[in-house]
Amino acid sequence: MNEKQIIDWLREEDERKLSVLWREANDARIVHVGEQVHLRGLIEISNICVRRCGYCGISADDRQIDRYRMTEEEIMDCVQKSVDFGYGTVVMQAGEDYGITREWVTKIVRRIKAETPLAVTLSLGERPDEDLIAWREAGANRYLIRFETSNRDLYDRIHPPLGDKPSDRFAILTNLKKLGYEVGSGIMIGIPGQTYADLARDILTFRKLDLDMIGVGPFIPHPETTLGKELPCAQAVEQVPNTEKMTYKVIALTRLVCPEANIPSTTALATLNKTDGREYGLMRGANIVMPNLTPPQYRVMYEIYPNKACINETSEACASCLPLRILNIGRTVGSGQGGRIKRDVEKSEYR
Ligand code: SAM
Repeated sequence: MNEKQIIDWLREEDERKLSVLWREANDARIVHVGEQVHLRGLIEISNICVRRCGYCGISADDRQIDRYRMTEEEIMDCVQKSVDFGYGTVVMQAGEDYGITREWVTKIVRRIKAETPLAVTLSLGERPDEDLIAWREAGANRYLIRFETSNRDLYDRIHPPLGDKPSDRFAILTNLKKLGYEVGSGIMIGIPGQTYADLARDILTFRKLDLDMIGVGPFIPHPETTLGKELPCAQAVEQVPNTEKMTYKVIALTRLVCPEANIPSTTALATLNKTDGREYGLMRGANIVMPNLTPPQYRVMYEIYPNKACINETSEACASCLPLRILNIGRTVGSGQGGRIKRDVEKSEYR
């Protein structure tokens, strides 16, 4: 698929034609990643952040929120729940918090790998190479860092550099791959100033980077952020809307362009449609769900956008709800770590 074809799909409003897109994405999902929906237990280990991202509710600029950093034992309790609930992976995510030291993460990763059969995914921001090397050596399997948008000007506007060091998430993604991580990235959909052409190029960038995991979700304005306050420009003709339907289109096109990637049906999507947004994501190309394991007292402090789905649930509630939702749409709950399976994707007709 080329840029023009992708843009045409992104602009498509005819429900009959869109039903073809949904079906083809679902067919590609069945062929390339199968019926299993893999569960990744998400632990939001700290909401402390040095960055001033214009979109994010835990930005250093927000002085209203209470900050937390989980202890090693609190994290290990969540890890144990991941084992008990049958999840194959734990994802440790945080703001860019340098109080989380290289040594501390190394110790926790070593413990998880020694004491459990879980895959470990880290999502701790733009950390120095030495940190990424140490964590990989300790046994971390995967690293997630979204490039957010492939439009460099837009990126610079919403994601200011730290001091005089430019933010180059593409360089980090390349480096992560060299270090042997499974690499995940992604974008937000409907960022103020993001055009259809930008979004098409984002999807083509997923293919160029040959990503193992691709997370796409709607941009949800947070009232305490600079971008949250600036939203009305969303009326412009070229502006991508931050809607549920646009998110399904991007999930479906991502599946067709990167058929063997692991693609989550994200919490941001479930936030726009709490009733069955997750299910529609899974039926239109996604194959991963990330149930939240963060203790409820911290969950409410990790509100990167308002009304986040499941913010008042417990881990136990998510563990009993999500597998049922998966079974209800005729899918199976994945077993094992659910890493990327490399096949001969060049044969896929949409590449
Ligand atoms: N600090 C790490 C990083 O920046 O990669 C991980 C944590 S960060 C909060 C995780 C992701 O949340 C970001 O990559 C961004 O795409 C998403 N996010 C933040 N604010 C958002 C918003 N207002 N709407 C939708 N997604 C948002």
